[in-house]
Amino acid sequence: MSNKWKVFWVASFAFVVFFQACGMHSWQEMLVSTSDEKQMGREFDSLVKIGDKSVMGAGESIFEPNTAAKKVLWDYYQARAKEVVNAIDKNDLDALLPSGKECNKQACTKDNFFEFKIINSKTRNAFAVPGGYVYFYTAILKDFKSESELVSVLGHEVGHVVKHHSRDRIVKQIGASAIIDLLLGPGIGGTLAELGAGFWLTKNGQDDESESDVLGFYYTNKIGISSQGLSDFFGRGLRSYNAATGECNEGKESSLLDVFSTHPPSCERVNRNTERIKNSGQNFPKDKNCANGCFTDLVKAAGI
Ligand SMILES: [Zn+2]
Repeated sequence: MSNKWKVFWVASFAFVVFFQACGMHSWQEMLVSTSDEKQMGREFDSLVKIGDKSVMGAGESIFEPNTAAKKVLWDYYQARAKEVVNAIDKNDLDALLPSGKECNKQACTKDNFFEFKIINSKTRNAFAVPGGYVYFYTAILKDFKSESELVSVLGHEVGHVVKHHSRDRIVKQIGASAIIDLLLGPGIGGTLAELGAGFWLTKNGQDDESESDVLGFYYTNKIGISSQGLSDFFGRGLRSYNAATGECNEGKESSLLDVFSTHPPSCERVNRNTERIKNSGQNFPKDKNCANGCFTDLVKAAGI
């Protein structure tokens, strides 16, 4: 073996040992750590807060729970989101939280890592960015027909965060060498804003969507609320969807929902979710928390 090959093999071995010693799960994590993800999300969120045009569309603004009815809706949304976060498996959660004081100058815990926001907007969509920042537009909240739909989509978005889908998309989009340049130079925090509002409204890959659907199902099942909401919500945009059986027979895609710009619709996807429910024997209610009115009542009362 030539010296050149010896160096190559020793270097490769050292790389693998380093990779494993750091407890890292993927090469994307080598490039963008959980701390980097948090920093990206934090900078993105600070732009949302001030309504910066790079991340907010015309007429969009951050939702403030500034009336009694809006506060009831806000608390309800936060409580459901917390249930979903509590349903995340410990290993997944541990792999998500950066070490160090990344969350409001404290160490990140499951209670302070995620932030769930609402944006006043006519867009019927929801999205998550790295670092645990999840956004729902008011128009999608108005579109949901049950608590199950809200919690299913919350679970799906949390699934994107848990599986680092946005991070992996960023790495793919801007390339490893550009990321290394950013890390060595100005830092990675402003990356999401620089990519522009269009980036997080581009289509997620089918694999990422499927993976998040499975996690969304898992969380709703663990919480004890019907997982039918995912089929109902996505099925509404498909002409052949049968709400009674939760199945659709042909993939006549519809552009009725903005959410399909980022979440590709398909009968197959809806049917897979319905199948999961049937196989699990699940028989949970679509509306569970109705003490102050069920979810759709609260949305109406808030006048969003
Ligand atoms: Zn998605």
